[in-house]
Amino acid sequence: MSEGDVILFGNGKLTVPNRPTIPFIEGDGIGPDIWKATKTVLDRAVEVVWGGNRKIIWKEVLAGEKAHRITGTWLPEETIEALHIHRVGIKGPLTTPVGGGIRSLNVALRQRLDLYACVRPVRYFNGVPTPTRQPDKVNMVVFRENTEDVYAGFELKEGTQEARSLIAHLKETYGWHLPPDTGIGIKPISRARSRRLIQAAIDYALDNGRRSVTLVHKGNIQKFTEGAFRQWGYDLAKELYPDRIITWDECNGHPPIGRILIKDTIADIFFQQALTRPNEFDVIATTNLNGDYISDALAAQVGGVGMAPGANINYQNGYALFEATHGTAPKYAGLDKVNPCSLILSGAMMLQYIGWGEASALIEKAIEKTIAQKTVTYDLARLMGDAKEVSCSGFAACVCENMGEISNLVL
Ligand code: NAP
Repeated sequence: MSEGDVILFGNGKLTVPNRPTIPFIEGDGIGPDIWKATKTVLDRAVEVVWGGNRKIIWKEVLAGEKAHRITGTWLPEETIEALHIHRVGIKGPLTTPVGGGIRSLNVALRQRLDLYACVRPVRYFNGVPTPTRQPDKVNMVVFRENTEDVYAGFELKEGTQEARSLIAHLKETYGWHLPPDTGIGIKPISRARSRRLIQAAIDYALDNGRRSVTLVHKGNIQKFTEGAFRQWGYDLAKELYPDRIITWDECNGHPPIGRILIKDTIADIFFQQALTRPNEFDVIATTNLNGDYISDALAAQVGGVGMAPGANINYQNGYALFEATHGTAPKYAGLDKVNPCSLILSGAMMLQYIGWGEASALIEKAIEKTIAQKTVTYDLARLMGDAKEVSCSGFAACVCENMGEISNLVL
C-alpha cells in the first residue's frame, strides 16, 4: 500500500487521487530543516482531516547541492521527469552562486516546466512583529510573470566578442551608441506570455471573490515592454471578461457590485502606495523583475520572508511547484533554528491547489493560534520580546498540537 497515484489534468482541472505521489526537493542550507518541519505539519493536517482515507505519498527528487553530491549534476533530468509525471511538487530553497558557476536552479526549474505564474499571497498573521503600523490591512496576491523579462538569461558579458559584436550591430543598424565596455542584458516581454499571466491573475480574482486586479509596470519609461504589458492587460480583460470587469476610467475607481476593478500603477509609486494605502490593492499582476522586488517588499510589511509562501504554476497544464520564497540562509543550516512558516504555508497553498482545502485551512488556523500563543522561532522572538522561542521542529510540533485542538472544535 505504499505506492501513490498520479495527479491527472484535463479540461482545465486536476484530478487528484486519495493517495497522490508528490515529489519534493529538500533544498540546500536550511532546506532540510524546514522541509522536515513542513512534512510533519502537512501529513498531520491530512491525517487530522481525513484519517487514513487520504495520504500524500512523498517522493524525493534531487536538485542543488545534494543532487551534485550524489549524481554529479545540479538538476538531474529524472527530477524534471518526475515533476512532469506527478504534476505537483514542492521544494525548499536552492543555492545560486552570484556572478558565475551554475545558473539559478530556481529559474531553470521554472523555465523547464514553463511555470509561468509565480503566485505569492501576502497576508498578516496576528501577533507577528512588523515594521508597519497597520499590517492587517495587507491582503494581496502577487502574480509575477516567471519566464521572461531580464530573467530570460539573454546576457552578454562585458568585453566578450559577442558583446562587442552586438554593440557594433546596434550602432550600425539603429544608431545606438553604447560604450565598448558595456555588459548587455535583453528584456523580452511578449504579448502571449503577458496575456496568460494576466489571465491567471484575473481568473484567480474572479474565482476567489477578490475586488481588483492591479497591473504594476514601469511603462512610462520602458514603453514597448512594461508599457505593452499594461496595454495587453487592459485589452485582454475587456476581450475575455467584458461583463465581469470594469476599468478604473469607466467607474472612477468605484466598481459596481459583481464587477472586478482592473487598474494599473507605475511600479515606483506602487511601493509607496502599498505601504501607505495597502487596502487599496488586492490581486497584483506584474512583470518578472518588478514581481521579485514587490513580493519581498510586501512580505516585509507582514513580518518578513520567513512568513511568505509561494508557488510557480502553469494553469494551462496544471504543473505546479510550491516553494519557500526565501533563500538557503546558509549560516543557519542544520541548526534546527529558522522559521519554517514560509514552506509550511507553501505546502498549505499546495493542499488548497489540489482541492484539499480543509487541511490547508486547518494549517493556517493552527499557525495563527501558535503565533497568538507567542510560541515562535528566533526571527520573530527577537522582535517580540515576550515570546517563547522554539526551534524549527519545535514550532512544527506546536502547530501539530494546535491542529488537534482546533479540529476538535470545528471538524
Ligand atoms: P536568504 O537565504 O533568504 O537569507 C537572508 C536572511 O533572511 C537570513 O540570514 C535570515 O535573516 C532571513 N531568513 C531567511 N530565511 C529565513 C527563515 N526561514 N527564517 C528566519 N529567517 C530567515 O538570502 P541570501 O542569504 O541572500 O541567499 C542565500 C542563498 O539562497 C543564495 O544562494 C541565493 O541565491 C539563494 N536563494 C534561493 C531562493 C530559492 O531557492 N527560491 C530564493 C532566494 C535566494 P537573519 O540572519 O537576519 O536572521
